[in-house]
Amino acid sequence: MAKTIRVEIIAVGSELLSPHYLDTNSLYLTRIMNELGLPVVRKTIVGDDAASLSGCFRDALKRADLILVSGGLGPTEDDRTREVWARVLNRPLVFQPAVYERIRRRFRRRGLTPTTSNRKQAYVLKGARILPNKNGTAPGLWIEATGRTVILLPGPPAELKPMVQDLVWPRLQRRRRGFYVRRVLKLTGLGESVLENEIVDLYPKDAALSVTTLASPGQLEIHIYGWSDKGRSALAGKAHRLEKAFAERLGDFIFSRNEESLEEVVADLLASRGKTVATAESCSGGLLSHRLTNVPGSSAFFLEGVVAYADQAKTERLGVPAPLIHQYGAVSAHVARAMAESVRRRSRAHFGLAVTGIAGPGGRTPTKPVGLVYTALAWDNGTQIEKNLFPGARDAVKFQSSQKALDMLRRHLLLARAKPARPPRNRARRTLKGHRP
Ligand code: AMP
Ligand code: MG
Repeated sequence: MAKTIRVEIIAVGSELLSPHYLDTNSLYLTRIMNELGLPVVRKTIVGDDAASLSGCFRDALKRADLILVSGGLGPTEDDRTREVWARVLNRPLVFQPAVYERIRRRFRRRGLTPTTSNRKQAYVLKGARILPNKNGTAPGLWIEATGRTVILLPGPPAELKPMVQDLVWPRLQRRRRGFYVRRVLKLTGLGESVLENEIVDLYPKDAALSVTTLASPGQLEIHIYGWSDKGRSALAGKAHRLEKAFAERLGDFIFSRNEESLEEVVADLLASRGKTVATAESCSGGLLSHRLTNVPGSSAFFLEGVVAYADQAKTERLGVPAPLIHQYGAVSAHVARAMAESVRRRSRAHFGLAVTGIAGPGGRTPTKPVGLVYTALAWDNGTQIEKNLFPGARDAVKFQSSQKALDMLRRHLLLARAKPARPPRNRARRTLKGHRP
């Protein structure tokens, strides 16, 4: 059996040691390494000062076979990754006119000229392979030294990811040590403990596969994953059978088996049926329309969104009768219904979706607690209204409100699709214990 390859990841950047920035590059790189069957044994975050950097790089060289470094390739004074590696490996940096020309052309296309500090990015460690950067100025570098491989990558994720995909991933294929299989099921409308009870007997007996459930407000995910050093197909088959067992058990609570977001699923259902939607939002403050318009091509199905926050706005923008608000309150089933029906009628969309609630932390009344949210869906011959009590802080309540509204529309579209003439093909429509959708 081939020797194992120990991988270390180093994220460079003082900002990553502050409470404001997350090192997401390492997560992405770990995922790529997992898929190649290469174990990541250590991740380090290090600030921009030269002494820390060189200590960190020297230590990694002692332990690891493959070292992935992100960040510190920029044009500014504090970007020192290149220089420090040159010192640690005792190799010169050589100015490469072709690399500088690429940088110049990139600037010219935007009507700009590079500054002298950009020249720095055209210095390449002697003997390194250049990884051209399609999305930025700093090229990556692939260095082979003392039996180790060191790969320097730019910090911005929008530059790092394509570079890894196009230039690093293919070159690492021959070092592959196994096959990684991963399936993700996403669910909404269920609590974590209910899910756990429902599926506990399905957990794999087979050591080759693992199952993890991840819970966040309004969403649950089941991850099925495993490695094999023999080949992909047997393991993929097992993962697929397990996924099917989960899917049959959980039915329509699952909204995605391909890693799509709920808004992408809803967008797909609307677009494929030629249906349109308009939104009327109070406590979700436009999050629902934001999520729908995050999906490319949303103009095909999204007509308009009204954020009617004040009572007066609900009356003036949507025509919700003031006496109705006065009698039942803005956070009520009556007002949710009026908002959904009105935005649907005024926009001439097929569907109207509405949200009104108390996101907190203030605004509660003796009868209306924080997290009380009414969501409503109006269509050509009906309106469905749900009363929800969402846990969590303001942002969690807002997210769950938008999630619930999207899910009502998803379920409606799915039911509308089921033609009674043809019985559903083995499709689980079973209702989980004590849980109505
Ligand atoms: P740099 O290559 O160090 O100039 O990094 C430029 C920018 O990339 C930083 O300001 C961050 O916004 C981003 N960045 C750098 N390292 C990371 C990381 N590990 N994860 C996510 N973003 C990063
Ligand atoms: Mg930096």
